[in-house]
Amino acid sequence: MEMERHEPRRRVLEHHRSGSGIRRIGYPIGIRTARLLRREQLTKNMLRLTVGGPELADFHSYQADDHVKIVFPDADGTRRLPVPTPDLSLDWPQPTPANRTYSIRRFDAETCEIDMDFVLHDGGLAAGWAVGARPGEEVAIAGPPGAKAFPHNYDHYVFAVDATALPAAARWLEESPPDVSVQLVIETADAADHAYPLADRDGAAVTWLVRDGGRSPLADVVRALDPPAERTFLFAAGETGAIKPLRAWARDFEGADGTKGMDALFTGYWKRGVAGLAD
Ligand SMILES: Cc1cc2nc3c(=O)[nH]c(=O)nc-3n(C[C@H](O)[C@H](O)[C@H](O)COP(=O)(O)OP(=O)(O)OC[C@H]3O[C@@H](n4cnc5c(N)ncnc54)[C@H](O)[C@@H]3O)c2cc1C
Repeated sequence: MEMERHEPRRRVLEHHRSGSGIRRIGYPIGIRTARLLRREQLTKNMLRLTVGGPELADFHSYQADDHVKIVFPDADGTRRLPVPTPDLSLDWPQPTPANRTYSIRRFDAETCEIDMDFVLHDGGLAAGWAVGARPGEEVAIAGPPGAKAFPHNYDHYVFAVDATALPAAARWLEESPPDVSVQLVIETADAADHAYPLADRDGAAVTWLVRDGGRSPLADVVRALDPPAERTFLFAAGETGAIKPLRAWARDFEGADGTKGMDALFTGYWKRGVAGLAD
């Protein structure tokens, strides 16, 4: 049983070390009801919630963009939670309870704590909940479901993200080998959020951008980058329309050694005008 529990960790770490491309590695999915422990306003529009408790004793997270679904109670307070299935999936009650996806910014197995960083924006169920949530409150989380693991052995990385994927990018900066270089292009809705804390490390160049209303400068700025090394990996996550143009850029990219195409992981984290994109 212990062996089984640690198998995903072994496979993810091995892929980080010596794999290539993206590898899907499923984790046994847990459904846990923990408690909100602390709140920390990181920047004007980024709020960190720390949840914890003994329910998280067997929680696991091995890759920087691991994420969970926060499952919200019904309007009358009833909690209807999904049930894990043997094929590493979830059986959701119908109608599906409201849920939203958040990255595991930090998991501390010693203290059984998870940090999640919320972008505060108007009209969001989860964003609104985060603003009002108080320590002691129950928080039901499902996941993480598993990793789309990408190796730590590329020469160079490009991160094209908005604030919603800033937690994943920040965690990657802390967990990836210190000798790989990275260009991070980070777009936020407000310059005040450029104060979000990022590890200061050699070889990391950060470009902060501000979204101009609905217009995103992200793709244009990333396309103008000139990644220096032969083997480059692109991590693109944020508003679906903003990262979409980068697919063609990654496909047509020509490396210094003449190879065509850049390995990449694209994830639409939200879509303008659509509530609960990842439900
Ligand atoms: C794998 C994954 C990891 C993610 N990790 C994080 C994370 O760590 N932190 C985080 O904040 N988000 C994260 N997200 C994005 C988050 O799940 C969505 O932004 C989600 O829609 C927020 O839910 P909500 O209830 O606040 O808004 P919703 O009720 O879903 O949406 C209401 C309205 O707000 C708009 N909207 C949604 N998100 C934003 C936004 N960020 N800015 C402006 N308008 C928005 C929608 O288009 C819609 O019109 C992640 C998503 C995925 C798929």
